[in-house]
Amino acid sequence: MEKLIITVAPTGNVPTIDKAPHVPLSPAEIAEDIFLCWQAGAAIAHIHARDEDGKPTADPEVFSEVAKRVKEKCDIIIQFSTGARAGKNAAERGVCIDKKPEMASLTTGSSNFADSVNYNPPELIKELALRMKKQGVKPEIEVFDLSALEYAKDLTGKGILETPLHINLVLGVPGSLAGTPRNLFFLLENLPDASTWSVTSIGRTHAQLSALAIVLGGHVRTGLEDVIELEKGQPISNLQLVSRLVNIAMAYGREIATPNEARKLIGLSCNI
Ligand code: ZN
Repeated sequence: MEKLIITVAPTGNVPTIDKAPHVPLSPAEIAEDIFLCWQAGAAIAHIHARDEDGKPTADPEVFSEVAKRVKEKCDIIIQFSTGARAGKNAAERGVCIDKKPEMASLTTGSSNFADSVNYNPPELIKELALRMKKQGVKPEIEVFDLSALEYAKDLTGKGILETPLHINLVLGVPGSLAGTPRNLFFLLENLPDASTWSVTSIGRTHAQLSALAIVLGGHVRTGLEDVIELEKGQPISNLQLVSRLVNIAMAYGREIATPNEARKLIGLSCNI
């Protein structure tokens, strides 16, 4: 089995200090947390930016500041979010791509969050994908439903996306696909050929589906963006979450990929 790529998503748009006391919010805090997770085994950092009040922001300078600080500390793969949350309008979502991170997230279909729309109309998806292509940024395809997987295949056929695709299957989002093994297998049966894949399972099914992905040969994402406590009322840190997945992987004999090994696995150049 190939080595395991662990992505850490330390901040997200939703966690707040009162609900997740260990969540890093400032560029310095985010960079330090990513560094600790890199030491523990994370190969990719999925980054959201927050403003000085800790609120989500699309300001490319904040993204850039986080990336600069991370690069000073380690060689982890930097992935910016272009996701739909944070009240960002369509135009704002793509601005961080121009800062040329190695990767950026690209959701290839609409669905619902618990209390808002995961708004990804075809024109916006194409616009973001072409912007990534122009800037040499590899997309991570975020799939919340089967339709998003099918649309990614459609865009590949049109030459807007390039193979091999790296696909992140997101399960357990309230209002979207439940985090069940059956739903994971359903998505896996429909993966495009030669793609690499990871699982992000939100909330209470996080550990179970992450373990399943590790056993099946997929990759995993963890972090406070996805899960804020192990059990009710027990807040956790990003480092603890990454370490927990490393321990699960070790128990199943799966080695952990370094950032450069991850670059090779997903088709990024290794000139870092
Ligand atoms: Zn995200």
